[in-house]
Amino acid sequence: MLSADFGNLQRDIEMLNASECDWLHVDVMDGLFVPNISFGQPIVKHIKRHAKKPLDVHLMIMDPGRYVEDFKNAGADILTVHYEACTHLDRVLHSIHDHGMKGGVVLNPHTAVCLLEDIIQECDLVLLMSVNPGFGGQKFIENTYNKVRQLKELCLRKHPECLIEVDGGVNLQNAPLLFEAGADVLVAGNAVFKSDDPAATIQQMKQ
Ligand code: ZN
Repeated sequence: MLSADFGNLQRDIEMLNASECDWLHVDVMDGLFVPNISFGQPIVKHIKRHAKKPLDVHLMIMDPGRYVEDFKNAGADILTVHYEACTHLDRVLHSIHDHGMKGGVVLNPHTAVCLLEDIIQECDLVLLMSVNPGFGGQKFIENTYNKVRQLKELCLRKHPECLIEVDGGVNLQNAPLLFEAGADVLVAGNAVFKSDDPAATIQQMKQ
């Protein structure tokens, strides 16, 4: 949603409702964990009001455990928090589940997949950042393919139901390679909203 037209949010959400996309991915930034500030709970509530698909809320904020209940109330169905932003990650994931949401961990490009060894069982999904978080429209980091393969191996060994999600610089060129490497969920912003026909681009990506 970060790449949507915020002056025409309802129009863009209705386009997504009618499209083949499965979830709406919502990036919340606090200006501290990442340099930018995006938006908070009031905008998430507005998105929820019009959305007919689950909201996948990605918290790029420090100490996200403070806001689990707020984002549940704002309409999040899935809540992901950064490994780098949580002192007590296990506790935060339990809190997300206790609030009836699916929960997951996000890794920045520099954070090793092996650090998930003792938390993967608690994750409904793991989100790998394929750019440095904080801005839309960045170039895809090629090492992501290796990380997807490593994560797939870890999931198969410890928690096969865990979904692998990739976020940042995803487009029609790298999408098939990411699926091939083991990704289950791809987040696309600019590749969709900056294309001539966003719904058709989503359809192509799904194929
Ligand atoms: Zn995101």
